[in-house]
Amino acid sequence: MIGRIHKIAGNVYVVRAGETLLRCRFRGRFRRELLPAGKPAAVGDEVEVTCCGAGEGRIERVLPRRSKLSRRDILRPSQEQVIVANVDLLVIVLAARDPDFDPRIADRCTVMAAANGLPCVLCVNKSDLGRPDLSAYEQAGFACVRTSARTGEGLEALRRFVRERAAVFVGPSGVGKSSLLNALELSLSLRVGEVSRRGEGRHTTSAVELVPAAGGLVADTPGLEFFTLWGVTAENLKDYFLDFAERAGACRYRNCTHTVEEGCAVRGNVADSRYRSYLEIRQDLLARRDLFRGR
Ligand code: GDP
Ligand code: ZN
Repeated sequence: MIGRIHKIAGNVYVVRAGETLLRCRFRGRFRRELLPAGKPAAVGDEVEVTCCGAGEGRIERVLPRRSKLSRRDILRPSQEQVIVANVDLLVIVLAARDPDFDPRIADRCTVMAAANGLPCVLCVNKSDLGRPDLSAYEQAGFACVRTSARTGEGLEALRRFVRERAAVFVGPSGVGKSSLLNALELSLSLRVGEVSRRGEGRHTTSAVELVPAAGGLVADTPGLEFFTLWGVTAENLKDYFLDFAERAGACRYRNCTHTVEEGCAVRGNVADSRYRSYLEIRQDLLARRDLFRGR
């Protein structure tokens, strides 16, 4: 049987195969063989399972992934940690207010999407409280949607984005991710304002769970504060600001960092919000590189 991992709790993998939910474990040999440091599979992975009766199963193998959302492992910075596998869309959720809309966080998330090769949509929730200027994102070519889990504004538009897709919601806590997921699908029972964190060791620090909603699958990712970019360096960061590509093509320097080079075609306007984010994330990556050196 082929199924999909919806949730991981310790060594138990909850696999949905059709209408059936199975509590599965890996065949013994997987435990150390596959990935010495991490888990042998992630939420979202498709797996082949055999039933062992009474809602229990055994995972025989993991099918190849078509995409993934990764972060840098916090405790082992040289390692990749897959947060969710087989993702179709990243929904970047920020609030219009409370907490204030933060373009730096939005831009960080767009880099995360680009670095993982995932399409994204910017969702500004709590529209009942304010309407921040999104023209920088519209000009950069991002799909934007304003929602309010309170008044219902924009929910139909958001539903169209996640329909028949595996969508992962990322964003700081308190912006209304759980509220939105609940509003998208009334049958969801995510706890609003209260994140479940299991004390099951470092491998389960992100309690990601895939749940069916709006004809697709959605995942909330509690604890964005622990998200670190994987595969992004100070040198290749510019490649993940996809909207820079046109200007970068016109840049007359090869290997330009677009920071200090005189006459660079990308550099220039620090009032440009996206460019400011580029400088900040780059600084951050340079600082981290020094921090991780020698580990
Ligand atoms: P999460 O941490 O991103 O999952 O955020 P929650 O869904 O837990 O919501 C945080 C707080 O914001 C809760 O008190 C919600 O009631 C509130 N909230 C969520 N969506 C909206 C909205 O659209 N408008 C307003 N005014 N409040 C909201
Ligand atoms: Zn340049």
